[in-house]
Amino acid sequence: MRTNRWQSGAPPFAPAPGGSAAQEPTGTIGVDRTGGGLTGAVAAPSHSRRDGRNHGAGGHAAFGIQLAPPALRRRDPRRAQGGNVVRQAGRPSSFAARIIAWQATHGRQDLPWQSSSDPYRVWLAEIMLQQTQVATVIPYFVRFCARFPNVATLAAASIDDVLSLWAGLGYYARARNLHAGARQVVERWGGRFPTDADTLMQLPGIGRSTAGAIAAFCAGACEPILDGNVKRVLARHFAIAGDPRTAAVERRLWEQARSLLPPSADMAAYTQGLMDLGATLCRHRAPRCDECPLRRTCAAHRSGRVDAFPGAKARRPVPARRAWALLAVHGDRVLLQRRPPAGLWGGLYALPQFTSAAQLRRAADELDPGAALKVMPARRHVFTHFSLTLLPRRLDLCALPPAGRGDDRVWLSLTTIDSAPLPAPVLALLREVAAESHAAASGALAPGKAQPSASGSMPRATRKRDTML
Ligand code: SF4
Repeated sequence: MRTNRWQSGAPPFAPAPGGSAAQEPTGTIGVDRTGGGLTGAVAAPSHSRRDGRNHGAGGHAAFGIQLAPPALRRRDPRRAQGGNVVRQAGRPSSFAARIIAWQATHGRQDLPWQSSSDPYRVWLAEIMLQQTQVATVIPYFVRFCARFPNVATLAAASIDDVLSLWAGLGYYARARNLHAGARQVVERWGGRFPTDADTLMQLPGIGRSTAGAIAAFCAGACEPILDGNVKRVLARHFAIAGDPRTAAVERRLWEQARSLLPPSADMAAYTQGLMDLGATLCRHRAPRCDECPLRRTCAAHRSGRVDAFPGAKARRPVPARRAWALLAVHGDRVLLQRRPPAGLWGGLYALPQFTSAAQLRRAADELDPGAALKVMPARRHVFTHFSLTLLPRRLDLCALPPAGRGDDRVWLSLTTIDSAPLPAPVLALLREVAAESHAAASGALAPGKAQPSASGSMPRATRKRDTML
């Protein structure tokens, strides 16, 4: 039987500074980084981003281009070399010049990762922002930086500590890749984080667009980005038809993106502006074309066919899976099993899962032969590529049996679930169990008895959206 902090009764994962590690995002999954991307830094008054006025950023004399806010200038890698921080980007009416000018007065300026050009922090933010909204990322980013202020501390951490801080953010492969990437940076480059795109792409979880963003922000590299928001902007502006997820359309978009790049000195502002514009103006639904600096030349807007770009994704049926989950409870302890390192919820702890009721019955008999299993309401979770219906069966134990089976099973105290590395649906279920136990202790509800619906029938299967991996 594994002896660990969970079994000793001590909280297995200390709550992170500033709040629970398992704080849940809402409505975050499977969307672009709506709400903004990386920016240069702090400083511009928040109202200046909305009202269109210039609050002292200054204008470029020759081209009428606004200078970047002070923090954005701080991030510019040329600053250390004594060069002009923001210069005009080609022709005054060029695509890049308009993006840069717009970003200076209307872009995001006050996000917690903006004040630094430290590639470690930029890397953290870029990975967290993949498929996740800015508002959701902010508290996770702040906690991560407080706990792991540099790549060395992240590399030295255990994967459990990393996953604990990540719990609830979804797409857990990102957390595993961050951990593995940090170790790689320490082992291969002595902790010095690379800033050129080709080297960055050797790290796990960094694709071409993420590498381009880090290189542009931290080294002024003339590398394009092409996340979901940017694809949408380019597809609309240049009327590039077809599904951008297909190789042919994506190739065209990359070529277009590369052709638009400004000089190195403007890359940070331009990259940030493109992200901001895609997130705040050129939104998937109801784009704000009247406020867009590109509207004069935007082919989709000029032809009144904004909705036609980017091309629709071919719809495929989502496979449905189901699994039986054993909720073994003793007092305030529940049995959890570590998931395999890759795949769904990789490396996290979840209820032991089985592919049939008979398998689950056999596992229950190993803990308490012949004990009654209570059927709990089914729960449906929608992932990126499939849906999963979990069929929980509760087993109340009179004695605490050994966890058994090596190191992969633990008995977790319900008082520590908020700081444990649990996927969001499992955490939600355990919170219900904890609340039920609390109510039972108060005499309000017998343990293990599901709350009936208003009609008196058992609740229907709950549907919760979560992320894959
Ligand atoms: S004009 Fe409208 S459709 Fe074109 S890039 Fe701007 S927001 Fe997007």
